[in-house]
Amino acid sequence: MSATDLTALLALGSIALFVVGLKRLSRVRTSRSGNALMASGMLLAVVITLIEVGLVDYRWIVGGLLVGGGIGYAIVARAKATAMPEIVARFNGFGGAASALVALSLFWGVVVEPGRDAVAADLLGATSAVTLVLSVLIGSVTLSGSILAELKLRGTISGDPRIPARSALMLLAVVGGLALGAVAVFGVEDVGVAAGLVIGLVAAALLAGVVLVLPIGGADMPVVISLLNSLSGLAAAATGFALSNELLIIAGTVVGAAGLILTQIMCVAMNRSLLNVLIGGFTETSADHGEYGHVVSADAESASMVLEVAQRVIIVPGYGLAAARAQNAAHDVARALIDRGVDVRFAIHPVAGRMPGHMNVVLAEAEVPYELLFEMSEINQDFGQTDVAIVVGANDVVNPAARNDPSSPIAGMPILDVDSARRVFVIKRSLSPGYAGIKNDLFERDHTVMLFGDAKQMLDDLAGHLQAAPPP
Ligand code: NDP
Repeated sequence: MSATDLTALLALGSIALFVVGLKRLSRVRTSRSGNALMASGMLLAVVITLIEVGLVDYRWIVGGLLVGGGIGYAIVARAKATAMPEIVARFNGFGGAASALVALSLFWGVVVEPGRDAVAADLLGATSAVTLVLSVLIGSVTLSGSILAELKLRGTISGDPRIPARSALMLLAVVGGLALGAVAVFGVEDVGVAAGLVIGLVAAALLAGVVLVLPIGGADMPVVISLLNSLSGLAAAATGFALSNELLIIAGTVVGAAGLILTQIMCVAMNRSLLNVLIGGFTETSADHGEYGHVVSADAESASMVLEVAQRVIIVPGYGLAAARAQNAAHDVARALIDRGVDVRFAIHPVAGRMPGHMNVVLAEAEVPYELLFEMSEINQDFGQTDVAIVVGANDVVNPAARNDPSSPIAGMPILDVDSARRVFVIKRSLSPGYAGIKNDLFERDHTVMLFGDAKQMLDDLAGHLQAAPPP
């Protein structure tokens, strides 16, 4: 078998690892092994590329691995688990930046120093040049958009700053960037001018990312985050075309397609079209942070007495459960109830938390059995036959305004119908709003009881009382 045959065979193996890994990622139970398979596929792809290119100075590779790996390790090792959504957003941006940098280095080899770089020398074809420009453009949009998304998730940038003539500005940045890139690659003799044009392309693309994400906020953020995820894959695929590297094309396309599917899922979860989210932005004009009328609250002991006689309970986790790291305590409450013969289930809203799949991840960490987790579409109709719905640190995803108030910023977003349950317990620290910044009149309904406090503390107290209660 020739060396070419061997690398082709290995490449096939790498692709198979991506495909099988992705398939396994679609189930919580198999997701760990799916992740490991995809990581092995990527390692194999790197090895194949190094073998194929051959002429690489390995000191640079090792240096890059150490610096990049070190930075990645430092970011994750110091981070709190609650900061995971922001980190995921940042790593998305790094993916885009990596693709843009590879494309820029190729551009340097093609336009600025032709002949310096053996790979770049083969790239004078029109298709490669177009994909080169696309890669810089999409990669840079992903970078600036993801940095903004991270700042929004972190709360450093709040609200939804307006940008005048946003759509026109966006169009100008994208079309202008493409034009600058095209002239740089095809139409300029002078190397200095070409380099200047490419800097213009990068600046226009970074601006486009800012204009894209800055006005989007509130409940629309999940859509933007999954879209940026998809863009990072598309940027990698474009770089793969520019490099004529099939593996990079496939890996990038897999990420791009998976991100697009996730974006679609998030749009359905919000009942919004992608265009509506991207063009409309999030409007807070009709948002009502208003005062609350009569709100009933109770302590853990009284709440546990109600739970002791319940037969069916649904626990609804939200961002506050992750923030309080209350997943183990929630599992303890579920176990205590199950031990008393209660039918207990968890209802998962697709945009609960701060990143897609957030609730599944934290509950899996606490080893809550997958059989107890139900998606919104599977469980929503059961709230009507439920004795108690326990809402733990969730707010927007259970806000009836989405259903009842057409002027609400979250109007039309499907919610978990906890208000149909006979009794609703809401565990949170205050009456302050959730991520979308709007009032939730669930809190003042007659059958709602607020259990004010930190989610972990309150659930620990509930579990303690339930365990100490006389058997049914
Ligand atoms: P929300 O952000 O609507 O509400 C979370 C609630 O948790 C707050 O009202 C807060 O109330 C409470 N909370 C915070 N810390 C604690 C704590 N330590 N103990 C108890 N409660 C706590 O969360 P939801 O999950 O209901 O909704 C998610 C929102 O985030 C949606 O608007 C969604 O669009 C958005 N989003 C989702 C993303 C995703 O991909 N899933 C990404 C980006 C945004 P209090 O301060 O009173 O305790």
